[in-house]
Amino acid sequence: MGYKLSKYLYEDEKEGYVFLYNTYKVDMLKIKKPLFEAIKENLSDIKENPENPVIAKLIEKRYLVEDSVNEDREGDLMYLKTCHSNKQLLLTILPTEGCNFRCEYCYEEHKQNKMSEETQEALIKFVRKNLKYYGGLSVSWFGGEPLLYPEIIEHLSEEFKKICKTFKKPYTAIMTTNGYLLDYDMFCRMKKCNVTNYQITIDGPAEVHDKQRFLAGGQPTYDKIISNLTDIKEKEKSKFYTFSLRTNLTVQSAKAYPKLAQFLKDNFFVDGRFTPRVRIAWNGTNDADYEKNIISDISSIFGEGSSLEETQENLQKSMYGITDENALRKNFNEIMFAHYPCYAAKANSFIFGPDGRLFKCTVHFDDSKDGVAGYLKPDGHLEVNDTIDAKWITQMTANDKGKCYDCKAYPLCQGVGCPYKMSVRGRRDDECEAKVAEIISTFRVFSSNEKICADVEEMLA
Ligand code: SF4
Ligand code: SF4
Repeated sequence: MGYKLSKYLYEDEKEGYVFLYNTYKVDMLKIKKPLFEAIKENLSDIKENPENPVIAKLIEKRYLVEDSVNEDREGDLMYLKTCHSNKQLLLTILPTEGCNFRCEYCYEEHKQNKMSEETQEALIKFVRKNLKYYGGLSVSWFGGEPLLYPEIIEHLSEEFKKICKTFKKPYTAIMTTNGYLLDYDMFCRMKKCNVTNYQITIDGPAEVHDKQRFLAGGQPTYDKIISNLTDIKEKEKSKFYTFSLRTNLTVQSAKAYPKLAQFLKDNFFVDGRFTPRVRIAWNGTNDADYEKNIISDISSIFGEGSSLEETQENLQKSMYGITDENALRKNFNEIMFAHYPCYAAKANSFIFGPDGRLFKCTVHFDDSKDGVAGYLKPDGHLEVNDTIDAKWITQMTANDKGKCYDCKAYPLCQGVGCPYKMSVRGRRDDECEAKVAEIISTFRVFSSNEKICADVEEMLA
């Protein structure tokens, strides 16, 4: 019996080291190049329980696997376990599609609706009927702006908690909010609803943020959000509550980003509960002229030869460099496990609109884009359109599965990646390239930190 290098490794070389990115274990390490070359040359001589601690470590972390292992089937199993799991009932609930903001790049239509009492009761019945099939309930509050109707969140949370208590299953909740209404009193109300993590967007220093993220009447929002977060940071002592501060980069915000990064570092990231998320903004629906503000030609902003990936990488590197090891690792795991594959490909994920429509993806709420996969009936029964549902929750690989088996990203992407682009729109070829570039770029960003990408020999010293 010999060993082989796992097929699920990306290799990168820097300064005499080979960096190994392991998509199966979502792990990485670096190893001196001559040592790595020597190991590769002698793979067939490796025995079970090797004395060499480096080899033992590489086997333990699955950088090396036995010759006989069929990694394709293990990749398939990964897909089944992630996308067809009953570990948790994952609900994303929109109390409203309405919002108090009118962000320039927003893709939503801001329908001023509100979840009716009838739909709330149907949702409670749905959870009561179905929770027995799952290990726990996890709710993500979304919108529109969910905090426009905190009383809906409170009512549903109360009922969900009771159901979970009856079934003796855990209940957890997170929220995506613009942060404007999240003052300390509101935060305390949401604590009672078990909301422990928030994603809040800050697009730049005040002068930039307020141009991109303003109230429906055009008024600024930056000062209010920062004052809310400062208040929570000072008054709340528990480490249990965490905040991902997201920045959407547009032509405007990318230029001003270093100033914002410094401010956030000094004021929030010194506290491990606050972590950064940097993303490139994409097209919206609110402003016909907005296209010009989307970053399409990166070199015009950051200089000749800069690529989108490099820019994102450099920006993130400068921020991640300051966060503590635990926060950094947690952030890395969150990015990897939350994004790959997208929740829209998961059979245990249900997104409910305010009127009981079942969506699969939080970006496409539209019938014409196969965004509506079913309807919740007043008795809590979910009527699902299997033809549409199948496009989201099965791998579109019937004719070219071999492509995924040749792809090092398979354990993370699982052949579904972004199901909207790959399967619903059927643009798998274009999307594969983008997905792989995104995965490598995320590994690269984090590999710049010694603590989560250590030299394997030093790890063992
Ligand atoms: S990136 Fe493409 S080829 Fe690779 S696993 Fe995903 S769908 Fe398959
Ligand atoms: S657009 Fe793609 S990646 Fe984004 S939520 Fe929808 S399916 Fe998921």
